[in-house]
Amino acid sequence: MKIGVYSGSFDPITKGHEDIIRRAAKMTDKLVVAVLNNVNKRYLFSLEERTAMVLCSLKDLDNVEVKNFQGLLTDFMEENKIEFIIRGLRAVSDYEYELTMAFANSDISQGRVETIFMPAAKQYMYLSSSVVREIANYGGKLSDYLNEEVEKKIRDKIKIQGSR
Ligand code: ADP
Repeated sequence: MKIGVYSGSFDPITKGHEDIIRRAAKMTDKLVVAVLNNVNKRYLFSLEERTAMVLCSLKDLDNVEVKNFQGLLTDFMEENKIEFIIRGLRAVSDYEYELTMAFANSDISQGRVETIFMPAAKQYMYLSSSVVREIANYGGKLSDYLNEEVEKKIRDKIKIQGSR
């Protein structure tokens, strides 16, 4: 069984992430979407909220499983019998970082882990969760970047933060 992992913070999940997941799910028997919990990072959404948004966006995909993880991705992969990592490549700026991570993951797993890059969809080439958070802060249009439920969640979150 070919099992892949797609990991990220998903703070929040965007249509760019979703596009990669849907395309990758077609190529794998099972795709694990791993929502990262980095204790040193400050997120807009909690791990539970980020995970719930990922689940809600992918509920129609029956070979996709959503899990949380922290620590080394290669350890998580070994525990879950996952052989390869799917990564999305946006602009050239992603390339250097992604290549470094691919080499590092290959090295620390003694060559067991393979990384597969998929090009971002043209319309999501410059889309990131941080751009989305910025637009949301200023009340801008988000429907091109987020699905309806996620858009509602970020609007509510910004409202709560603004009223503090
Ligand atoms: P985030 O923190 O925004 O969830 P990460 O930087 O952790 O995202 O990246 C998770 C994966 O998603 C990476 O492979 C990244 O290149 C990919 N990704 C992020 N945004 C997009 C997008 N708009 N289109 C395609 N892939 C994307």
